[in-house]
Amino acid sequence: MTEFIPVFQPVLDGNEKKYLTECIETGWLGSNGRFVKKLEKEFSQYCSQKYGSCTTNGSSALDLALRVMKYTYKWEDNSEIIIPSFNIISAAQSCIYNNLKPVFVDAEETTWNIDTTKIEEVITKKTKAIVIVHIYGLPSDVSPILEIANKYNLKIIEDAAQAHGQTYNGKKCGSFGDIATFSFFTNKHVSSGEGGMVLSSSEEIINNVNYFKNLCFTKEKFIHNDLGWNMRMSNLQAAVACAQLEKIENTINKKKEIGSKYHQLLKEIPAKLSCERMPYAENHYWVFGIVINEDVKLSAKQVREKLLEENIETRPFFYPMHKQPVLERLGILDKIKRPVSEKLYVKGFYIPTGLNLTDSKLEYISEKIKKILMY
Ligand SMILES: *Cc1c(COP(=O)(O)O)cnc(C)c1O
Repeated sequence: MTEFIPVFQPVLDGNEKKYLTECIETGWLGSNGRFVKKLEKEFSQYCSQKYGSCTTNGSSALDLALRVMKYTYKWEDNSEIIIPSFNIISAAQSCIYNNLKPVFVDAEETTWNIDTTKIEEVITKKTKAIVIVHIYGLPSDVSPILEIANKYNLKIIEDAAQAHGQTYNGKKCGSFGDIATFSFFTNKHVSSGEGGMVLSSSEEIINNVNYFKNLCFTKEKFIHNDLGWNMRMSNLQAAVACAQLEKIENTINKKKEIGSKYHQLLKEIPAKLSCERMPYAENHYWVFGIVINEDVKLSAKQVREKLLEENIETRPFFYPMHKQPVLERLGILDKIKRPVSEKLYVKGFYIPTGLNLTDSKLEYISEKIKKILMY
């Protein structure tokens, strides 16, 4: 038995401590500090967008994105927003908080990203935007989505929270959206513990983001025309994220190395592994996913329990949005079948990809998976 292997562990061996020390020594803790501005400038440049605005986390970044798009383009209440069903709840709940209606599209079997052939079926007169979400480190197929958006005059919101530094046909993820969002949660490629970012190349949009994330203060301080939360990032968080951004290529290379080793070690198991590459991108393996074949009589949950007995932490795949009890209760779900995302939940899980995993740990994990699924 080995020591406990967590599904992820950050490595903080760059300038994190130095930058944090600077915050403490200068007293700049809050959102006016220099690291917030530095992160906005450097991260937007890195993603080929003009402007950035730091936020408290990736979910608040999405809430701001939907809020600001609705405000800027004067979308009516109950306008419809297309979102992948195989996804975290952040985008869907941001729609609901902003009186917009999320409409879900099933995943595609190989990449687990949105099935672009199913998008047009759900477009109505009320549809205003498509949320592109790059799932688990492999980009969505952006080109057909942009074509559809063009044809129906829809806006693009890009949730690149799992795709820092990833590219689609050589162009950075996070650069395709009219507005794009990132998370800097602990397990993301750039981490500040908690944190997020909104990017846009429109000055008007980013000004509106800055307005809504700052209690909707106006020039006449303490007189308000709108309501907005405080979603500002602290200088402490930005300091850590700045240091992490300096090492991002290393982080991505390490993840790719882990991914290709797992592919080698697990190639015989009766399961589908995270897709290695598509013509438009190589997987960056934000996480490494396994989807057990249908003819294996074990669910992901059962396999995960057995792995935990071997001290290996794993995570379930997303639970489809179109099955969420809370959305059912709100009465916003339709009757469309989305079988791929349902299967992914039952048969899928992901395994450790911490940046400091040694080869012997990767071998240990792979051996245990093989033992459970093959012998
Ligand atoms: C992590 C993540 C979020 C939420 O970010 P938080 O910082 O945890 O709020 C949103 N969307 C996707 C695709 C994510 O992976």
